[in-house]
Amino acid sequence: MTPSYADLKTWDHTYLWHPFTQMQEWLAEDPIIITRGEGNYLIDHAGKKYLDGVSSLWCNVHGHAHPAINAAISEQLSQIAHSTMLGLANIPSTQLAKQLVEIAPGELTRVFYSDAGATAVEIALKIAFQYWQLKGVTNKVKFASLVEAYHGDTLGAMHAGYSELFHHFFRPILPEAFRLTPPHYFRFYQGMTADEALAAAIAEARKVLSQHHGEIAALIVEPLMQGAAGMWSHPIAYIQALRKITAQHDILLICDEVATGFGRTGRMFACEHASVSPDILCVAKGITGGYLPLAATLTTEEIFSAFLAPYEEFKTFFHGHTYTGNPLACAAALASLALFEQNQVLAQLQAKISLLTQRLHTNFASLQHVADIRQWGFMIGVELMRDRERKQSYATSERIGLQVIKEARKHGVMIRPLGDIIVLMPPLSISPEELSFLLDVVYDAIRTVTEKP
Ligand code: PMP
Repeated sequence: MTPSYADLKTWDHTYLWHPFTQMQEWLAEDPIIITRGEGNYLIDHAGKKYLDGVSSLWCNVHGHAHPAINAAISEQLSQIAHSTMLGLANIPSTQLAKQLVEIAPGELTRVFYSDAGATAVEIALKIAFQYWQLKGVTNKVKFASLVEAYHGDTLGAMHAGYSELFHHFFRPILPEAFRLTPPHYFRFYQGMTADEALAAAIAEARKVLSQHHGEIAALIVEPLMQGAAGMWSHPIAYIQALRKITAQHDILLICDEVATGFGRTGRMFACEHASVSPDILCVAKGITGGYLPLAATLTTEEIFSAFLAPYEEFKTFFHGHTYTGNPLACAAALASLALFEQNQVLAQLQAKISLLTQRLHTNFASLQHVADIRQWGFMIGVELMRDRERKQSYATSERIGLQVIKEARKHGVMIRPLGDIIVLMPPLSISPEELSFLLDVVYDAIRTVTEKP
């Protein structure tokens, strides 16, 4: 028997600690308990339906409870739920590795599995580090990344990225890294045009990376869109320049496509827009269509081959997780990739991206407190400010972003902001009608909250 709402609320409030949540605030409210999913909708304990406007934290691709993905998981479940990849192989992870290599950009030929974006990043950092050690280049002991880059919350991932808000407590235990200022000219490079900001950002990258290449093992970047920083979009030319500079100076390029991968920017991977091929690629979130925890770190054959040697030379990559290459998750991923093909998802997406662009740049842009709109495909950030001309933010205590999402919730849309940046990242399966509904509700919510007398 399903427990009552009252029991669930009590147990939640008594036993749980929610991620990225100020629990004092949470404990003062009635939790929304999601009980079911149906297509692009979430359904709560009271039967209320919400359009899933952020793909359940940026991972759902084809909608919830999709019969094909459910069937693939059930079918695999009838065979085996889990067996280890340490010294053994399994069918779905092997098939999936082949398919990932086929769709991955450039020269990436090897797949190392894990189970979260952060672990995919940890693995990328460790592979990059050990690679140079194995090559005898022992001074490359540091990493470079972009200012406010977010690569996950484990220690290595916090060191690679660094969000002042999320990670400042841990600063004393994080090694120093080189931080490059991205060409996000809304925040940096005041007074410059977009082109000038881009040139300045590239010049800075060239200077830092060329001066310190002897100590830098790898540069890690979220290509085209820094998600958790607040949806900071970058032009294609920036990632192209970073690829060129890193190649010139023997620095590995790690692209973290945990958020941008699997169609989110309008192509399968964001790197494809720029025809950039990284040395290491991290993927997670959408890999299983957003159904089960799975991540992968892909490398080139050049990197992989540096680890090959007789066992007694101890060049092995001694890293693994209990659920590495979990068959259920890999079966879900295979079903998701099949749906990309069958439903021509990326082709279907283009008209929906145009609809989004058009609506955002007409009526959203004209709202009094919308200060900036950033978009790459289905990844959108709408930044709200008290005074957009003077770039004056709202006080944190006003919780404007939170107020907007609560207002949207009343009208059947579930979204989650990044501070005062309203994030939209719907499932790729959203219909044009649902997309219009999402935009209408969010537009009205922004107006209601920011223009109230
Ligand atoms: N990298 C990027 C770019 C991300 O957006 C995220 C999660 N938002 C992560 C890494 C971490 O992924 P996970 O939450 O699965 O550890």
